[in-house]
Amino acid sequence: MRVRNKPWAKEKVAEYPQYIPSDPMAWKGKWQDKFQNKQPIHIEVGTGKGQFITEMAKAHPEINYVGIELQTNVIVIALDKLIEEKLPNLQLLLVNGSMLTEYFAAGEVDQVYLNFSDPWPKKRHEKRRLTSPSFLSNYENILKKNGEIHFKTDNRGLFEYSLASFSQYGMILKQVWLDLHQSDFVGNIMTEYEAKFSAKGQPIYRVEAVFPE
Ligand code: SAM
Repeated sequence: MRVRNKPWAKEKVAEYPQYIPSDPMAWKGKWQDKFQNKQPIHIEVGTGKGQFITEMAKAHPEINYVGIELQTNVIVIALDKLIEEKLPNLQLLLVNGSMLTEYFAAGEVDQVYLNFSDPWPKKRHEKRRLTSPSFLSNYENILKKNGEIHFKTDNRGLFEYSLASFSQYGMILKQVWLDLHQSDFVGNIMTEYEAKFSAKGQPIYRVEAVFPE
């Protein structure tokens, strides 16, 4: 995601350690202490401006959410939403999703969401795709037994790659949607990218994949 540089963003993030921990490694194995209620933890990697994770947190107070984003200029927009909504079940994390095992203990997370992840179409950039084997290995490590990945994208190439990657890793594909918005799926919460691409008439692909025991 390309966004304008915001020279004030870093300072603003530092002002809200109650929403974006300044010491993320210190919370490894202790994420439940960050929330009002002890309940399942769902994370979104590449949360962008936070529309999905904020709406999910509002719709599901029985789940604790962590939105993970790499760019300060982007997460600061998600932070604005959280400051306004003051959701007790949402935290943001400004880190690289390739290092998840540094920030979450084994089995600490119940579900992973990936939404409109950067496609990195060049073969030499495969390792950067959030559904490549090294990312899957990290998700498997931090997820509980039978943990799931729920992935949505408009990008057919990335979707095909991801289905193959999940299945080569030994994951079970529970359900696949080739046109989510024309399906009977209930309770879809749109991301910023999803709204943009579906407005252009592009189909939205979705898959739920599970790590077997
Ligand atoms: N999920 C949002 C949506 O659907 O509207 C944003 C999609 S945007 C194309 C992808 C986002 O993932 C960008 O904000 C980017 O900075 C973030 N991202 C990419 N690689 C990441 C990584 N390794 N760790 C954390 N965030 C990452």
